[in-house]
Amino acid sequence: MMQTNEMLLLKLGEVVLKGLNRRSFEDKLVSNVRRRLKGCGSFQVYVRQSTIYVEPQSDACDMEAAYAAARQVFGVAAVARAVPCGKTVEAIVDTAQTYLADAFAQAHSFKVESKRADKAFPMTSIQLSQAVGGELAERFPNVTVDVHHPDLTVYVEIRETAAYVHAPSVPGAGGLPVGMGGRAVSLLSGGLDSPVSSWMMARRGVELEMVHFVSPPYTSQQAQDKVLELARLLTGYCGRMIVHIIPFTKIQEEIRRQCPEEYFTLIMRRFMMRLAQAVAKKAGAGALVTGESLGQVASQTMLALGVTEDVVSMPVLRPLIGMDKVEIIRIAREIGTYETSILPYEDCCTVFTPRHPATRPALEDVRAAEAALDVDALVAEALSGETWIRVKITDEPRI
Ligand code: ATP
Ligand code: MG
Repeated sequence: MMQTNEMLLLKLGEVVLKGLNRRSFEDKLVSNVRRRLKGCGSFQVYVRQSTIYVEPQSDACDMEAAYAAARQVFGVAAVARAVPCGKTVEAIVDTAQTYLADAFAQAHSFKVESKRADKAFPMTSIQLSQAVGGELAERFPNVTVDVHHPDLTVYVEIRETAAYVHAPSVPGAGGLPVGMGGRAVSLLSGGLDSPVSSWMMARRGVELEMVHFVSPPYTSQQAQDKVLELARLLTGYCGRMIVHIIPFTKIQEEIRRQCPEEYFTLIMRRFMMRLAQAVAKKAGAGALVTGESLGQVASQTMLALGVTEDVVSMPVLRPLIGMDKVEIIRIAREIGTYETSILPYEDCCTVFTPRHPATRPALEDVRAAEAALDVDALVAEALSGETWIRVKITDEPRI
């Protein structure tokens, strides 16, 4: 149960391994946490000893929302909720007894671990742990003290203004704070894969801008709204982002008119990469991200991927490359994009699909087939039709 004055403790992730980057990791993380909590009320957010403290500044703070939000912030390894009480053994024991009643009911053994930030507190950490532990053992006779392998650890912190009691933490989103890993442009379709690939790169600290290709009238406004909704769902993790919308109809029609059917998809994907790279250069991004997974479809064999990335010079990050569909679906469910991804709207990739796509495409043949087109003019025209939308976490659902 949430209680007034409850606060959150966020444990830092991987930074612990990287001495030199520590300061920038912490600064970035604190500012990302602050930004993420903006809609939940007014909080004081600061770092002490590898922990970020999130303290509500008024009763108007929505602690449930803050807790959920904190669990989406990359760079946070674990999140605990802590409840304050008076700085006496009795108050601490009373608080632990009520606040952790469910946890005690499930445990066979426990221990108490104390930390003292207030050095004026009259007991040492060890004395405090023993006193609180002894008292709790009496109040929960079915649970014994075990300092080596307890089922439950009760954490007590003595701070200037109050004591805090908390139970073990739950896992945070992990990874690195968004913004520490540079910027990339992610190709976002309405499918299951690309929201997951975007999420995975954001988790490695990469700030994302999205690019989405539309082919009206073959693709609908609903299909575009679905993609914007996926972007909105991702802002909970990635922060607000720009979605570039690029008209793709003309390119697809020209390919269909002038190129061999077996190469439709590959040539189309080469255009996507060129356009995405142009957007990335303008955005100051250093890489592209796709949801491709080796062998998933004909355009994602090793040869096909080579043909696709032939036209760009930036690194193409494909975090799903070695993953099975079931694993991708599991992540999509966890991060909350699954239900939206499975809505049945057409993507431009599915409108002119060849009946027999080339399975062993030779780069030279694809290049030759593509030479029938005025590539530069088609790219320039598509880019001139680009529009963009800023998607924010506070936006209303679009679908
Ligand atoms: P997804 O589930 O992400 O749609 P997919 O398995 O259906 O992927 P493809 O349709 O071949 O595979 O697309 C491969 C990748 O190309 C996608 O993961 C995405 O990164 C990109 N992509 C496909 N269609 C679009 C689009 N309309 N706009 C932007 N990117 C796209
Ligand atoms: Mg797709």
